[in-house]
Amino acid sequence: MLDVRRIRRHFDFPAAGRVVTNNAASTQPPRELIGLYRELARSYENVHRGQSSASQRTTDAFEASFDTIAAWINAPSRRSIVTYRNTTEAINAVMYSLLTEFRDGDNVVTTLMEHNSDFVPWYALSREILPRLGRRVECRLARFDHASGRLDLDHLADLIDDRTKLVCVTGASNFLGTKPPLDLIRRLSRDSGYAQPSGENGSLLLVDGAQLVPSSPVDVGALDVDYLAFSFHKMLAPFGVGVLYAKEHLLEASLPFLYGGDMIATGRVSPDRVDYNDLPWKYSAGTPNILGTIVSAQALRLTLDLVQGGRPSWFGTERPIPWETVASCMGTVSRHTAAMTELARKRLRDVVGLRVYGPQPGVDRSPLLAFNVDGFDPFWLADGLNEFGVESRAGCHCATLAHRDLGLIPPASCRLSFALYTNADDVERATEAVRCLTSRGR
Ligand code: PLP
Repeated sequence: MLDVRRIRRHFDFPAAGRVVTNNAASTQPPRELIGLYRELARSYENVHRGQSSASQRTTDAFEASFDTIAAWINAPSRRSIVTYRNTTEAINAVMYSLLTEFRDGDNVVTTLMEHNSDFVPWYALSREILPRLGRRVECRLARFDHASGRLDLDHLADLIDDRTKLVCVTGASNFLGTKPPLDLIRRLSRDSGYAQPSGENGSLLLVDGAQLVPSSPVDVGALDVDYLAFSFHKMLAPFGVGVLYAKEHLLEASLPFLYGGDMIATGRVSPDRVDYNDLPWKYSAGTPNILGTIVSAQALRLTLDLVQGGRPSWFGTERPIPWETVASCMGTVSRHTAAMTELARKRLRDVVGLRVYGPQPGVDRSPLLAFNVDGFDPFWLADGLNEFGVESRAGCHCATLAHRDLGLIPPASCRLSFALYTNADDVERATEAVRCLTSRGR
């Protein structure tokens, strides 16, 4: 079990007494990370661009961050880790990297439960970008079951064929909470019969891990995903850094998304030939978010310390992180946030007219509950919750297709979402506020 009381001592929550239950949007940073950012900012230089000891120190810390990130998802090495601003940019980077590879008549299969970050790029590719280049590529959308929130695997299997270059699926929905079975989807995509230019058979698999990676152990090797995208601002770190994991051979073969300085091999630029840098720097054009990346990697190490209560392996004294340690840590986080989610569901059970979307109790889901209460505008509810000191979110949470599919027009629901620092008191206060608003408002 998590010692949440101890964990909470590391956080200055926004204003004393407020309940932070909008964690699927972004989590709060622990005090140590804010302090680390300030400390690093006192003496730094750009990376890969200076002979000073400050530049060397910053470069070492920045590069070591990629090892920590790789360890967190059990990637073989830093060569598979590319940083961008966020999940959205990471998915767009895949889209642009593959742009030249799509053949006329190909398709991309994604789902109706995607965040717009994993739908709009594929929509734009198929409806706007490739048609202008004279190629027709279809974007296909797999359905989900309205009652259970389960992805319709039969429909998905029907949509995938030997012209499916890529299958893109969320690892955990930020609205329904559904966690599609990635092992089965991997099998479907591998068996599609698509012939990749590399000679490999099968469709590539991209997993949007924005909600999955913060809430459970994710082993990219075991899942055998080709691409995984996630954002650190949902994992205790400040805003501004997202990750694209990709299999090394894909990063070797594909074209970068951004071009410029640092992504080229030192001195290897002439008017008619440019050689790209080694991985992962081939994908790091221009000055990256250096401090953000260092602090984000430290957020992972701090998560271990918070969960395990051990001695911090803090900045500058990093030891390699074994996968078993990450798996155990994130297993604990996952059990705790699942317990908070189920508690919230139980406490809301007798609210008249309540509709919670997604999987039924007991099914593994992301730690969030999106709901509506008949007769109440979700925006009114969320505003009311705010007055009770409870942070929630109303809207479509960028899962617009799923809201529309469920007939929620205008597309909206109210959402409570939980993190490792959520305690039962937060859940009681948030759910009590919902009960109070909905009984008072009638
Ligand atoms: N995918 C999912 C499932 C999300 O929940 C989010 C953010 O809420 C994103 C993608 C986009 O993340 P970002 O805004 O960091 O790009």
